[in-house]
Amino acid sequence: MNSQVTTAAGKLKRIREAYIKQLPAQLGVIRKAYNDAVQDSCGLAGMEILHRSIHTLKGACASFGLKKLSTVAASGELLAKNVMNPEASADRIWHQKIQECLTSLEAEIKNIDTSQYFDTRAVELVAASEVTSGRDQKVIYICEDDSYQRLSLATQIECFGFNVTSFGELDQLSNAVQNSAPDAIVMDMIFPDRPTGGAEIIETIRKQGSTVPVVYISSLNDFNSRLSAVRAGSSAYFVKPVNVTELCSTLDTLTHAVAPDPYRVLIVDDDHHLSELYATILQSAGMNTVTVNDPLQVMAPLVDFKPDLVLTDMYMPGCNGMELAKAVRQMGASFSIPIIYLSSETDVGKQFQAMRMGGDEFLTKPITSENLIAAVAGRAGRMKVIRSFMVRDSMTGLFNHSTCKDYLEMALAQAQRQGTEVCFAMIDVDKFKSVNDTYGHLMGDQVLITLSRLLQQRLRKTDVVGRYGGEEFAVIFTDCDLTTAIQVVDQLRESFATLRFPVGDESFSSSFSSGVASFSLFKDMESICKAADTALYKAKETGRNRVCAAAAT
Ligand code: GH3
Ligand code: MG
Ligand code: MG
Repeated sequence: MNSQVTTAAGKLKRIREAYIKQLPAQLGVIRKAYNDAVQDSCGLAGMEILHRSIHTLKGACASFGLKKLSTVAASGELLAKNVMNPEASADRIWHQKIQECLTSLEAEIKNIDTSQYFDTRAVELVAASEVTSGRDQKVIYICEDDSYQRLSLATQIECFGFNVTSFGELDQLSNAVQNSAPDAIVMDMIFPDRPTGGAEIIETIRKQGSTVPVVYISSLNDFNSRLSAVRAGSSAYFVKPVNVTELCSTLDTLTHAVAPDPYRVLIVDDDHHLSELYATILQSAGMNTVTVNDPLQVMAPLVDFKPDLVLTDMYMPGCNGMELAKAVRQMGASFSIPIIYLSSETDVGKQFQAMRMGGDEFLTKPITSENLIAAVAGRAGRMKVIRSFMVRDSMTGLFNHSTCKDYLEMALAQAQRQGTEVCFAMIDVDKFKSVNDTYGHLMGDQVLITLSRLLQQRLRKTDVVGRYGGEEFAVIFTDCDLTTAIQVVDQLRESFATLRFPVGDESFSSSFSSGVASFSLFKDMESICKAADTALYKAKETGRNRVCAAAAT
């Protein structure tokens, strides 16, 4: 077992132990709720608190694998629920039953076997897979009968750092897969005399035991073609002309070439042991989490943490999950955020009501680690894709112009608050018009895609890279001084200028110029942008293929 596995599993074990330790105190809360309810002549408000406190115990115990305790709590919950019915009232028998239940809870808590089985398999699996991935360049096979498309696609995919081998015939591909399996296959659907040849050959390869991911590319967008791709075991389907950036980001994911940005999950649950349990499980799957135990405090993390998904409990003091969902939906920016309820509520009517209030999915406690991870990853993943359509440029996958501006504004505000430095670099490809004129627009696109990749690969995760305009790019260096920013851009400039772009038997190179401005000299959006632009102009004027700093005015 590797160390990551031990850490995740060990952490879960510790959370469970801490939960068990506080159980007597939690039972004390339930007893107090019962006594208060009795004092209050068993009024509805007191009974609701009693019901909620037992309900919480039931759900949490089940989640921590304390099955017997959870069963006893379930019977107590039912008793409390029945007496909340307008026609019912707490009679002598009811009091006797609930007291018996409290006694059994106490006995069960004393009897807990801390070494009881607890499901950590999912966590181990995830951690193990994280460690085994990591071969450098991923191998992609392309099978496409049209030689022009084959070549153009292969070249473009190579720009994204993949090792590409292409085949014009189905049998060639099939033989190659048998000899040496690639990390993924990009497969055309229609071949001469074989309208679904692409699907057929993959089915054959699958029968031989291969599980390599396959992405289909096809000129047909009808449902039948898509269906035959699905039946042949496709991972994705692209209609021609293929958007290469999207294709490559799919290949990145399928081959685990680039670790995707982690999903951000906001967990709202009044029980801090449970919220920590969920946080640990989701973190073990590589997600980032922020936990809120008081639902009334949900605003700040929604704004600052910008979650991809909200995972919320149903019954919480102060504000229930349904109210929370509704309030979140009414905030413009959170309108489309997926909301998943996680509750031990098993009443289907209540579940539907909760969904009507704006939830997307209802999960019941207890839930296995696998199911929780799968549900959250599924919803958050789709949300991320939808959001990326809005904020990213489709050709390069970089942030688009308006998103860049938004990030710059945020970075400046943050620098102001924290007294840190920010630098803004504008990058413009030199004599790009002549690249288009000499080698064609497609080749021009490849130069831009390559530069985008270079910027993304070389810059820190915290730097923001965007496509500012046609052949203009922008980089926001957070918490970085002017000298360092200039050095980094200059290294990028040198790398880019040494790249050769193949054209037939020959090749050509390209270059860029850049202007860099710093927040310490230019204190607002307008002046820092203008300063970077002026510096860029100076770089162009003084010979191109160089980086200039914006001087104080
Ligand atoms: P300079 O060194 O002064 O920047 O010269 P330049 O030729 O790069 O500058 P200019 O602004 O005159 O031309 C930019 C060209 O970039 C014109 C436009 O057709 C081309 N361009 C803009 N967007 C794209 C794109 O997405 N793909 C391709 N292939 N070309 C593009
Ligand atoms: Mg230019
Ligand atoms: Mg330009």
